[in-house]
Amino acid sequence: MIIADCHVHSEFSSDSTAPITDMLQQAIRQGMSVFYLTDHHDIDFPKDAAGGLDFQLDTPQYLAKLSELKRQYRNRIEIRTGVELGLMKHITQKLHDYVSTFAFDFIIASSHLVRGMDPFYPEYFADRSQTEAYREYFESIYENISVFNNFDVYGHLDYVVRYGPTKNAGWDFRDYADVFEAILRTLIQNGKGIEINTAGLYKGLGYPHPHIDILNMYHELGGEIITVGSDAHTPEYLGYGFETACQLLRSCGFRYYTLFQGRKPQFIPL
Ligand SMILES: [Zn+2]
Ligand SMILES: [Zn+2]
Repeated sequence: MIIADCHVHSEFSSDSTAPITDMLQQAIRQGMSVFYLTDHHDIDFPKDAAGGLDFQLDTPQYLAKLSELKRQYRNRIEIRTGVELGLMKHITQKLHDYVSTFAFDFIIASSHLVRGMDPFYPEYFADRSQTEAYREYFESIYENISVFNNFDVYGHLDYVVRYGPTKNAGWDFRDYADVFEAILRTLIQNGKGIEINTAGLYKGLGYPHPHIDILNMYHELGGEIITVGSDAHTPEYLGYGFETACQLLRSCGFRYYTLFQGRKPQFIPL
């Protein structure tokens, strides 16, 4: 059994109303021994991109709350601090400043915006083919990690596929294999990992992010750092599909998954 869900949100994220304690209780009920909270922080998130949500984390208050809970829950579960940081090339300096200001156990880097647009909205796909729109998203990940690497894993690498007009129907890895090779080689060279994110299972893809073709390529290129997360924004999704994720990782040849403490990886047998 996976002992921690490495991608969890709470009411500290603009798109969740779940109290942290509800998420914590759920992790305890499932018998997990470590609890991570990885709320959103998207610097320079445009006001009109997501119906007025701003995705700015009140980080001092967030960390204070987590340290209070850490004391309260110390005999029940170990609490570790995380953040899901939205990357964009033009905010590189602000990202460096942010990460050097606050001490986290674990940082997920994610792409939620491309050219200031969120693929969640159909405008992102307007006036071009789905393949072109997907490719631009993947290329922007490569651009992001070419200028910034102060994170631990890259989140939901194929997030954009959730929102395309036909989602993953007709997915052909060969259309993007060159971009993924560049992304994965860069991550591996920099000692960074990826995550398997089970939201794909409950958000219409039928499999976790990223697609198995990407997991296989990561493994073949020598990638070893992989965290397991549900991206739950409500308690019922915490730990969702972890058995499926485990089997998938084993089938790709992975023998370990990873947890982070104080930004250092710990490898645990699958
Ligand atoms: Zn995300
Ligand atoms: Zn998330």
